Amino acid sequence: MKAWIIEEQKPVEKYPLKLVEIPDPHPGPGQIRIKVVACGVCRTDAHIAEGDLPLHKRPVVPGHEIVGIVDEIGEGVKRFKIGDRAGVTWLNYACGTCKYCRAGKENICENAKFTGWDVDGGYAEYHVVDERFALHLPEDRSFEELAPWMCPGVAGYRAFKLTGLSKGQKLGLYGFGPSATYILQVAKHLGIEVFVITRSEKNKEAAMKLGADWVGGYEDKLPVKLDGSILFPPVGKLVAFALSQLDKGGRLVLGPVTMTPVVIDDYDLLWHERHIVSLANVSREDGKEFIEIASKIDIKMDIEVFPFEGAPEALIKTRHSKQRGTAVLKIVET
Ligand SMILES: [Zn+2]
Ligand SMILES: [Zn+2]
Repeated sequence: MKAWIIEEQKPVEKYPLKLVEIPDPHPGPGQIRIKVVACGVCRTDAHIAEGDLPLHKRPVVPGHEIVGIVDEIGEGVKRFKIGDRAGVTWLNYACGTCKYCRAGKENICENAKFTGWDVDGGYAEYHVVDERFALHLPEDRSFEELAPWMCPGVAGYRAFKLTGLSKGQKLGLYGFGPSATYILQVAKHLGIEVFVITRSEKNKEAAMKLGADWVGGYEDKLPVKLDGSILFPPVGKLVAFALSQLDKGGRLVLGPVTMTPVVIDDYDLLWHERHIVSLANVSREDGKEFIEIASKIDIKMDIEVFPFEGAPEALIKTRHSKQRGTAVLKIVET
């Protein structure tokens, strides 16, 4: 099969992605093979390509927003049959036996394997995965539309769940990329008021269009205190800023994988049972729940589709947030 691999980590402009021909993978017992129709391009792929994250296997096929059609099944497979739609997120495998898995926290499993990092991902014609870690997908959406559900959708949904908010409460979103775009729509659907804080005029407009209750910049004064908020920019000094806008008992969720130094020099910012929690990976439950809720609402996302050969360009654009909405590779014409 044709696949894009990363063998040597370097800046995306120096083309760390290499197009190669590798043997077609086949499913073992309990596994399914997905003919990849589309795969979303994530900022994390750029982190792996450039070396911000170490390579866990070399070479590796990146890509963890996989959607396609099951075209081969291994012995004993029960949840999928040939011809079914299937999706794969960042969580490719969790052991089910470590203390985190036993506590229902497979997203921080000690033996977890991540798609496009520990195992080959979706910048390829086929992907093989344990059927228990594949998700069923709705039939009435295009594959291009479904691909970003697998990462910005599911991870955004987990971040939202971590705020613990429910109907009538107030949510703040700092930064308005693809994840926040999905969260805003889910939160509005659930009757939550949403306040969007972003620098970009383009994003302010997009948030207004999608029904945000208030949109402003970091310098603008919020009209209310927030019951929960999610911070996306990896800028540590914004943590104290976001805390200062949080109501008593509120929860601040930190989205980034890495951040510049975080300094909270005033205990008042934490006093009155304010919480801070970071988002780490996703679970299968997050995937199932997000797909269920996104299927019910006419969830919107601006998508820039690239042909399979356009992967290097898609990665460069994503690395510098120059893509329109979110970037998706179309692997197979359907
Ligand atoms: Zn991702
Ligand atoms: Zn585990």
